[in-house]
Amino acid sequence: MTRDRANDPQEGAPAGARNAPRAAELGEQKLISILVPMYNEEQMIDLFFDRIESAIHGLDCRFEFVCVNDGSRDRTQEILLNRAAQDARLVIINLTRNFGKEAALTAALDFAGGDAVIPIDADLQDPPELIPQFIAKWREGYDVVYGVRRQRLADTLGKRTTASAFYGLFNRLSDVKIPADAGDYRLMDRSVVENIKRMPERNRFMKGLFAWVGGRSTAVEFARQTRAAGKTKWNYWRLWNFALEGITSFSAAPLKVWSYVGLGVAAIGCLFAAYLILLVVVRGVDVPGYASIMVAVLVLGGLQLLSLGLIGEYIGRVYMETKQRPPYLVSDVIGLQRRSPRQRTPQAEDEAHEG
Ligand code: UDP
Ligand code: MG
Repeated sequence: MTRDRANDPQEGAPAGARNAPRAAELGEQKLISILVPMYNEEQMIDLFFDRIESAIHGLDCRFEFVCVNDGSRDRTQEILLNRAAQDARLVIINLTRNFGKEAALTAALDFAGGDAVIPIDADLQDPPELIPQFIAKWREGYDVVYGVRRQRLADTLGKRTTASAFYGLFNRLSDVKIPADAGDYRLMDRSVVENIKRMPERNRFMKGLFAWVGGRSTAVEFARQTRAAGKTKWNYWRLWNFALEGITSFSAAPLKVWSYVGLGVAAIGCLFAAYLILLVVVRGVDVPGYASIMVAVLVLGGLQLLSLGLIGEYIGRVYMETKQRPPYLVSDVIGLQRRSPRQRTPQAEDEAHEG
């Protein structure tokens, strides 16, 4: 304790600021930022806050809710504003249009002020009842506590199979491993958030970025629920593009594989040529083979277009990155000015002034 005092950077500060034990105690109460991307969630907002409110009730933490309105075209913004008028913990970030969930989450991370952050979907598919467990693990010293979906009964068989195929492929191709069936629902310590914010890329495959920064991590299992109300914004086309985004952001293997495919095809070509020469030598001149030529042309043509397409995927992304556009644009922020940067409680401030 004495040594701490000696190292205290505030040594020269008024004694009262340092010696107020209540202030120190209050300082212990950590701020948790709940990050909620919202796109057309008018039906969900009240349900969501009711559930989360009862889940976090009685926890020894302060909370803020960073709600990113991702260009909703329904009453999401209006409902949020009404809530914010009565609830100082609410921060609303309005984006200028719909930028997608990953961008909305990026915005939430940028504006969050908490000692830890918890991104959560507004549709209650991620049960808020996990939050106390997240916080308990965090207090044990873990930097990242992520939720793992134990059964994905809420998802269709098709979505489950494609998801597991994706995780398998991703983890085989990429150096960073993402835990299968872990979503964005997790708790991350401030240090992890700062590391994520250092990543400048525009293509934001969040699960990959979360895994890339590392940190001491642990998992909490849960059963994923069906959407409580409203409609999912996902479809297979969006999911497919999401998967492409993930793999191209974290692996160059699809680019490199073509030299080996080419090598293989060339080797087969050589063998076939040798066979043809042998045929001519043994059986004399013989020119059949419309079928074999067509097969060769079509297969090789197809392979070439495929490889070109894949190169295109990467070049397209390189092009987007070079433009250096911001991942999202904010039209206005509500609720942030109401508090000082660290959101000190009024008592802590009073006691600091007393000395
Ligand atoms: N979301 C968003 N922008 C979008 C699409 C979705 O902010 O363009 C939000 C949505 O409001 C929800 C979360 O991302 O809070 C997950 O969306 P959804 O439930 O549609 O995805 P799913 O659970 O089906 O993967
Ligand atoms: Mg959902």
